[in-house]
Amino acid sequence: MTSILKIINKTLKNLEKTNKDANPKNFEEEFYKQLNKSDFIFQEEKEIKSLISTFTDFERSKLNKENQTFKDIANILSERISDQIIREFLKDFAYFMSSSIDKKIDDDIRTLCTKIAEKPNSLVDLETLRNLRRLTDQRINADKKLFNDKTNDVKKLINFLGEYVNRFLIEHSSTIDEVTKLKNEISSLNLSESSFNDFKSFREDLLCSIEKFEKSIYESRNNITDNQLKCDLLYEQIEELQENLNKAEEEKSIDYLTKVLTRRAYNLEVKRLENEYRIFNSKYALVFYDIDHFKDVNDSYGHDCGDSILSTFAQILKNLTRTGDIIARYGGEEFISLVSYKNKLEVENYLRRAKNIIANNKFVYNDIKLNIEFCAGVTFRDNYNSYEETIKKADELLYDAKSKGRNKIILDNNKIL
Ligand code: GH3
Ligand code: MG
Ligand code: MG
Repeated sequence: MTSILKIINKTLKNLEKTNKDANPKNFEEEFYKQLNKSDFIFQEEKEIKSLISTFTDFERSKLNKENQTFKDIANILSERISDQIIREFLKDFAYFMSSSIDKKIDDDIRTLCTKIAEKPNSLVDLETLRNLRRLTDQRINADKKLFNDKTNDVKKLINFLGEYVNRFLIEHSSTIDEVTKLKNEISSLNLSESSFNDFKSFREDLLCSIEKFEKSIYESRNNITDNQLKCDLLYEQIEELQENLNKAEEEKSIDYLTKVLTRRAYNLEVKRLENEYRIFNSKYALVFYDIDHFKDVNDSYGHDCGDSILSTFAQILKNLTRTGDIIARYGGEEFISLVSYKNKLEVENYLRRAKNIIANNKFVYNDIKLNIEFCAGVTFRDNYNSYEETIKKADELLYDAKSKGRNKIILDNNKIL
């Protein structure tokens, strides 16, 4: 009891000394300051600590380190979206994310949403974000596959129709037997499962049209020649369009040689990660790699050998990259990876693994076997004000590593691996 009185006394004295009114606000602030300085254990402090233990990392980072009052906690909690609102959102979220194609993904999304709903705070956990990203990727791939299946089916049908018209023109005296044969062929046309229902009525219409078509063929041969040409043209156009679409999509985001992200795709991923950093405080490290003396490899063993080494180097880095993390070709023999982490040691372990794998294995091209070394500069995003500063510093550390003899990884916490 004496201790608490002492603290109250000191609080009042200090307020007087600093010319502050002893109103509830000033009193509370000063009281907690004095309390923290003393070794007195106050029941409230225990309660405050227990409340803080339920905070997310992000909420904890907003707390005043020296002085924590119920008011601070209330302020932070008032920014929290209620668990009920998160649960309501998750109900709709599972629907937004659901895939009309792959029910397994739907089940996984629902399971994940249920898991989050049971512990709404986990919504901003790194692992949850990774899982959401993995499921989104799976869903996008399923959508892409469906699109390809459908285009292929349309191509099959148009091709079929074209061939039929062709045959008709050559033989120009088809019998009713032939129409029957044709109908059977259409019925057994092998369509993808996803298109079966969509094209069922189309197939029936097609059969019907063929019969009508046969009747009219003799009357309008010229017209048919036209249609056949249109069919061929349409087929070619669809095929070309599909090829261009696939190629353009890939060229935009995947480097043709190393099969990791292009610089363009990387820049988009940076925007996403920066957003997550800003909103969820999701920490990440930037690793800038550059292969040592790569020009010598080209000069001694040829450009094709250099290409093969670049591709293997990228593959090794890609295999070490976890879902949600990024690996990209930034330029010639320079790569960047963005590694999410909770604890900086995770990043160091990742770097050690990369270095060990590359140091302990020979790169093979035909009968050439080579040791490859590299340098890297590593920065932790939360040490800088912006992404631009983060990458600039990583580039400088990479340069340091080169000038200090190469085969080195230098981190911005002065560690050298
Ligand atoms: P350092 O240790 O200082 O990094 O030396 P380095 O020789 O690796 O660096 P430098 O920048 O002098 O040379 C990079 C070389 O990478 C030159 C260039 O021809 C080669 N290069 C860039 N892109 C490719 C590519 O796609 N294929 C091949 N085979 N070589 C490439
Ligand atoms: Mg270079
Ligand atoms: Mg180099």
